[in-house]
Amino acid sequence: MTGTPDVKDVTVDFGHIIDSCPLGVVKAPSAAAVQELLTFAGPHGLPVSARGGGQALYGQGQAHGGYVVDMAALNEVRCIPHERTLTAGAGASWRDVVRAALGEGLTPAVLPDHLGGSVGGVLSTGGFGGSSHRHGLVADRVREVEVVTGTGEHLTCSPDRRPDLFRAVLAGLGQCALIVGATLALVPAPTHVRRYRLYYDSPDTYVTDQRRLARDARFSHVTGQARPALGGGWQYMIEAVAPHAAPPCPGRPPADDELLVGDLEHDRDTEEIADLSYAEYLHRLDRDERLLRATGEWDRPHPWLTLLLPEQTVTSFVPALLAEDAQRGLRTCGTVQLRPLTGRALHAPLVPRPAGELLCLLSLMRTAPPGRPGVVRQLVAANRALYQRARTVGGVLHPVAALPMTPDDWRAHFGPVWPELVRAKDRYDPHHILTRGYGLWA
Ligand SMILES: Cc1cc2nc3c(=O)[nH]c(=O)nc-3n(C[C@H](O)[C@H](O)[C@H](O)COP(=O)(O)OP(=O)(O)OC[C@H]3O[C@@H](n4cnc5c(N)ncnc54)[C@H](O)[C@@H]3O)c2cc1C
Repeated sequence: MTGTPDVKDVTVDFGHIIDSCPLGVVKAPSAAAVQELLTFAGPHGLPVSARGGGQALYGQGQAHGGYVVDMAALNEVRCIPHERTLTAGAGASWRDVVRAALGEGLTPAVLPDHLGGSVGGVLSTGGFGGSSHRHGLVADRVREVEVVTGTGEHLTCSPDRRPDLFRAVLAGLGQCALIVGATLALVPAPTHVRRYRLYYDSPDTYVTDQRRLARDARFSHVTGQARPALGGGWQYMIEAVAPHAAPPCPGRPPADDELLVGDLEHDRDTEEIADLSYAEYLHRLDRDERLLRATGEWDRPHPWLTLLLPEQTVTSFVPALLAEDAQRGLRTCGTVQLRPLTGRALHAPLVPRPAGELLCLLSLMRTAPPGRPGVVRQLVAANRALYQRARTVGGVLHPVAALPMTPDDWRAHFGPVWPELVRAKDRYDPHHILTRGYGLWA
């Protein structure tokens, strides 16, 4: 273990809602350093959490009365082109991963939209991206994970090697082990993509088209948003992306466009079509981040909520919630993301999903005003009310959220996989020291 980064650096996260002071922050330049800490902390019952990109929303990465492990130094990334794999330290960011993979003309099949999270942090929640409707979670494309368990064992796991640990670690909310590195599968990267932004006034036609695109393979990436409409109300946008072999040129063949969007029911007058390099597309949120940092919004409270909904509920559930008074702030300071998904593409067992083949990931990504803790409390309470309502229509939480959860809530959340998680917890973190910020255990 080296150095002692400042404790105040880890008392807050991107959520800026929960802050808690650990006893100390331990910088981990190697798996051995993590092992040393966990071997000591377990028998003493000292809480330990990993900190990667600090994007948690509600203190999930904090370790009150214990230690936060700063994973930043575990950031080595190595691409092995002939194997089409890449190994990454848990503290590497997805930007680091993209840089190394694209350098060899390769890419992970699924990447989070925002590349600033850490490899370990995103794998611990699962990771959704624009191609999840076809390729599942970021975690579903992992070949092997290197971890240190709550008892200080330094182990490697994969579908064939300690499969129980592999299943417990991916999307496992850091409950059984801290990830120190991962081997990711890669695929050939396109050089360019064509991006379509298609606008809809009606949620019904929007969902009909999203359903069509989720089912077929014409686009490599599909996501969507609800956006405030000019005269009040909301409009909907599909963002769909297809690989595009030729470099950007003004005289692109119109046949492509006809084939890709000709049968869709969007407003043709407002459609936007752009050719981008694949790297530009992957880094599409970098500019937004710079802007939000410059305006100070990046450092304000973020009472986000993310839910997985059965697709057939979207046309009623989403417009109804957007019309609520409690959600008014989303019109001015936030983003409402609607990501189409197919249940058959999702594999990590610890990601519970609604019944049915077609799903939608709804993310309410809002920013609260600064210095108004009362407003933040109200928004967190609104998250709780919405979560409970979502459950009545078959919705499930995606645990990237500012949402208080009790151990009973978690038991209900994991449902049939809860006993498997309990067994893995007893085996790999019997002292219950890891990642307590989620509040899974009494
Ligand atoms: C602006 C923004 C955009 C986002 N976009 C997406 C997106 O497109 N797709 C998506 O799926 N998610 C997205 N997220 C959610 C984000 O990926 C998750 O919150 C992720 O867990 C963040 O990881 P981190 O390392 O950056 O954060 P941290 O706060 O450092 O960690 C988050 C959680 O993971 C745990 N953790 C961190 N490292 C490890 C490790 N090595 N081993 C075990 N547990 C660990 C922490 O203890 C904590 O509980 C976004 C979040 C933000 C703020």
